[in-house]
Formats: sequence, structure tokens, C-alpha cells
Amino acid sequence: MMESNIFSSFSFKASTQTRAPPVEDVVESAELEVTHYVVKEVEDLKKCSSSPPNWREVIQAIRSMRAGQDAPVDQMGTHQLADRTADKKTQQFQILVAAVISSQTRDSVTAAAMMRLHALPGGLTIGNLFRQELTIHQLAEILKPVGFYRQKAKHLKAIAEKLSGCPFNGNVPGTLDELLKLPGVGPKIALLVLWVAFGKGEEGFIVDTNVRRVCCRLGWAPDGSDPNQVRQSLETWLPRSLWPDISFLFVGFGQQVCKPIAPQCERCQVNGMCPSAFQDASKEASKKRSKLK
Ligand code: SF4
Repeated sequence: MMESNIFSSFSFKASTQTRAPPVEDVVESAELEVTHYVVKEVEDLKKCSSSPPNWREVIQAIRSMRAGQDAPVDQMGTHQLADRTADKKTQQFQILVAAVISSQTRDSVTAAAMMRLHALPGGLTIGNLFRQELTIHQLAEILKPVGFYRQKAKHLKAIAEKLSGCPFNGNVPGTLDELLKLPGVGPKIALLVLWVAFGKGEEGFIVDTNVRRVCCRLGWAPDGSDPNQVRQSLETWLPRSLWPDISFLFVGFGQQVCKPIAPQCERCQVNGMCPSAFQDASKEASKKRSKLK
């Protein structure tokens, strides 16, 4: 089989013409494609030169630790919480709702709240959340114990109202700018919706609390960076095509191994490359020593 590269794709295009194009057009077209290819390669090389050492090995090791796909995010992440029997537009709305609820809330609590919302008469749709019979107070009671459930109930009602009218007419917007205009939707939620609901995973690197912590501990972002700073930092060097994959990988890794308290450095396959390895244990030991004094 012919190897797939820019030249073979160019050959295919040329062979499907009903009349052969002028030679100079063909040469110009090939030159443009080659230039584009070279520019992309140079951009990737530039990115690699500003990247942390061993980042590819670190990712490979974390991938291997995540091979079981048994972290809470794998089973109960936003991508698992839409009703797959619903139509595409409804599923996009459900993913938006799940993303809003998931902010500062454990996956298991988000999943349970989504189950209760799916059980609403008529299911979880824009119309059902918007209807007057469902008050903000009732919605808050359904969401409880989700973090900030009262605030989120207000936001979800306002989102349903906004999406019901013009210019959305029952559609969840598929651009970052429009999503950010919805109540309670910040960059993390908007990027998550774009990725899960619209398959646009390369709009921005998604940083939740797990991703922020893992990136800082690995030294991929300055210590103490907030999620926005971590996102900006990684977007400067991590190839765009890896953004959704790495973000998802790190969420589960942070849930299972690089936990907020007592990270499991002894079983972590990147402990030889991580500047924060065993620091938690040494902090604990120094605390015990100071108590004994
Ligand atoms: S070695 Fe420890 S701190 Fe570093 S990534 Fe692994 S679990 Fe996290």
C-alpha cells in the first residue's frame, strides 16, 4: 500500500482531475503544501525546545498507570453523563448541565445529581429546566449536595431560559465566546463542553483541580499557579493535538495516584523524574520530628 503523506495526497488530488491542470499550478500547489508542512514542523520543534525535560516519558508512564481506566473520571466523568438515547441537541445540553454541576464537586456527587435530573418528568431538557413549575428552590433541592448547589440552580435556570430564546432557539452554542456568555460558565466549563459535546478538544487545555496540582508537582507550571496560569503555561509548549488527551489522563492520575493529600509517590512510575516526589512524606517526617522536640 502507498505510504500516506502529503505527496501521496497530492497525487490523489491530481489524478482525480477530469482535465490535467497547468504544470505551474500543480507545482505552486505542491510548494504551498510543502511550505505548510515545514512551518508546522518548525512550530512543533520550537514548542519542544521550551518544553520540560522528559515530558514524553512522563506522559508515557502516566498513560501506563492509567491503562485500567478505572478512575472516577473514567466511569462518571462528564462524557458519561448524557442520556445516549436522547437526540444530539439534548445530549449537548445535558453535557453542559453536567459540566456546570461538576465544578468543585466530586464525580460521584455530580453523577448522582445527573441521575436525579434525568428522572425529571420528560427528562433533562432545556424546556423542562426552563418551565415555571420547576422553581429554583426545587432545582437546588434536586442538586443538593452538589457544591454551591443554590448558585448552580440559579445558573442552570438562567441558562435554560437563555437557550430557549433567540438567538439560540434551543441549541447549545458551539463556540468559546458564546459559551462564556452563559451564566456560571467559565473557561474550564466552556472548554469541557466544546470537547465532550462538540468534539472540539483543541480549543484550549482544560485544567481542573487535579490537572493543576499534577502539572505544578511535575514542575510543568510554576508552583502555586492557578488553573488559568497552568493552562497558559502548557499551551505554550504542549502540542495542541495532545491537549484533550493529556488533560483527561491527568484528571484520573490526580484522582488515583497524585492525590492532593498523601500522593502515592512510592508506586508512581514517574517518581524518578518528578521534582516533588516524596516531598509529602518528608514534610510529614519533619512535622513528627518537630513534635518530638
Ligand atoms: S512522584 Fe509523587 S508527586 Fe510526583 S507525580 Fe508521582 S505521585 Fe505526584
